[in-house]
Amino acid sequence: MNATTLPAHLHGLAPRDAASPMGRVHSIETAGSVDGPGLRFVLFVSGCPLRCQYCHNPDTWDAKAGWPLPAETIVAEIAKYAHFLHLAHGGVTISGGEPLSQPDFVTAVLEGAKTLGLHTALDTSGFLGDHADDRLLAATDLVLLDIKAFDEDTYHRLTHKALAPTLRFAERLAGMGKPVWLRYVLVPGLNDDPAAITALARYAAKLGNVRRVEVLPFHKMGESKWEIMGMHSPLADTPEPTPEATEKARALFRAAGFDCT
Ligand code: SF4
Repeated sequence: MNATTLPAHLHGLAPRDAASPMGRVHSIETAGSVDGPGLRFVLFVSGCPLRCQYCHNPDTWDAKAGWPLPAETIVAEIAKYAHFLHLAHGGVTISGGEPLSQPDFVTAVLEGAKTLGLHTALDTSGFLGDHADDRLLAATDLVLLDIKAFDEDTYHRLTHKALAPTLRFAERLAGMGKPVWLRYVLVPGLNDDPAAITALARYAAKLGNVRRVEVLPFHKMGESKWEIMGMHSPLADTPEPTPEATEKARALFRAAGFDCT
């Protein structure tokens, strides 16, 4: 996840409409190209219950950090870009951190984006999938679902949390026929076992609502943030996957019938 900072004119801005849910915002990217179709207004919210070893944004973990802003302010900001987003066949993506750590705020922003006629996407680990009620999902056109590993031990080692809630959410989305793009960050020696990737690919194929798969090679650009925060990256000694290894993982998803990039 890539993030810019918050636009200066939003700093400290809190014209609170009591009816508009407040959220904690980490940053905004106004022309994102990797978090959903077309060009995206990407809202990165604060707070995440996971502790992924490869997290690029550990500064989003703290739910109390970030700028307190009402949803209406975010929607007003999105409205400035709506025409451009339409032309670029894009929309709005809410990422983080974990968007489902702030479900009321996220629902209000998604619904606001829909009133502007924009495509909406939710970028989530699915761990807090139970926080996504039918109203939130009704305002969500696409879920970018990160399944970080497909066996419990690896998932827990990678995220410090359990895998089951994510799979429960994946199956709920499948039951609704909600479009999903599955994302898989490939880490050498951690979640690159071909048998486990094949098992995930077959599971995803059975779900029936996964429209595409993105295999994202782990990269080390986020390590400086760990250092700035006084933490040691657990993957400091882990190399990025080779292009060949990344292609091999993609081929396993393609073998299950997916368009995979
Ligand atoms: S789910 Fe995303 S934000 Fe949360 S720890 Fe993992 S990579 Fe970081």
